[in-house]
Amino acid sequence: MTGWVVIAGLGPGAEGLVTPEVSDALAQATDVIGYIPYVARVAERPGLTLHATDNRVELDRAVHALTLAAQGKRVAVVSSGDPGVFAMASALFDALEAGPEQWRALDIRVLPGITAMLAAAARAGAPLGHDFCAINLSDNLKPWPLIERRLRLAAQADFAMAFYNPRSRSRPEGFGRALDILREECGGDRLILFARAVSTPEEELRIVHLNQAMPDMADMRTVVIVGSSRTRLIERAGQPILYTPRSA
Ligand code: SAH
Repeated sequence: MTGWVVIAGLGPGAEGLVTPEVSDALAQATDVIGYIPYVARVAERPGLTLHATDNRVELDRAVHALTLAAQGKRVAVVSSGDPGVFAMASALFDALEAGPEQWRALDIRVLPGITAMLAAAARAGAPLGHDFCAINLSDNLKPWPLIERRLRLAAQADFAMAFYNPRSRSRPEGFGRALDILREECGGDRLILFARAVSTPEEELRIVHLNQAMPDMADMRTVVIVGSSRTRLIERAGQPILYTPRSA
């Protein structure tokens, strides 16, 4: 049996947002590896071993996947959204780079998925229709001063901004500070979208101005999008449309 590793994105939650390429790989896999809630999204079947692990063991998971593939297993490492966005693909390549030479001969593929900010943007309208950036607000893997610097510079450059992991467990006050910085740089009128559990039954969308934004409007299942100075709302019955025009 020839082994392989795919690092697959499961999308934001809805079954219909999993790509056919990812579904095919999961149907052929002998082993699925990932964080507990993501592995729980993969259906059990005979011949498939599920390896669910806690968060923060990304490198162990990656080494495990490469070791199994070197033994001839067909391994799917699963992430939510896209595996290249604040997720397992980079962790796997960290392990590959540091690991034994023979791992480099393995068949390794990254299978893209729909990342949270794109699913959220689509639900709200088109807030990322002009230039934008994505910032992970967790300070697990980088120092807080670097996050602050990137926030300020992105705001000054008038990007729309998508924030992943807004409430870090290790720094619950971090998101409040991020909102203060954004108010300083962008003013209180700027539009901000809190999109929680997008494409799942618990989905919640909330659009407010920065001066109304509170830290507890976000949790670890929320992606936050702050508009640029051009981002605006089209009011209509029901939910308004949030969009950023294509021209600056
Ligand atoms: N690889 C994932 C991101 C992992 S980081 C992706 O591409 O989407 C985890 C963060 O993603 C969460 O804290 C949250 O900010 C965001 N996220 C993931 N799924 C989400 C969903 N369904 N709705 C809103 N935000 C989500």
